Amino acid sequence: MKKYAVVTSISYPKKGAMGKTGSWRVFRPTLDKAKCVKCLRCWIYCPEGSIRREPDGSISIDYEYCKGCGICAKECAVKAITMKREDEHE
Ligand code: SF4
Ligand code: SF4
Repeated sequence: MKKYAVVTSISYPKKGAMGKTGSWRVFRPTLDKAKCVKCLRCWIYCPEGSIRREPDGSISIDYEYCKGCGICAKECAVKAITMKREDEHE
């Protein structure tokens, strides 16, 4: 029986798989640490793996890879993440 290589179209959210974001991102997620309850929902949902878990249980956002999709802000139940235009960010 002849054997064929298996090729799938499945991709996995993996840091750096598509390279660094560069300067094209339009919206940037901004975290209000005072509101964050450390539930990790944003960490679960971020398709780019750009939410980091810090040793103290808090989270941070890796802007090198964040694509600005806004999923984290949408999923955060306490609205600790808001999306701001890059040109509005100081
Ligand atoms: S979803 Fe919101 S509250 Fe939960 S860890 Fe992320 S920023 Fe914090
Ligand atoms: S905006 Fe999108 S890519 Fe950036 S941290 Fe939030 S979910 Fe991840």
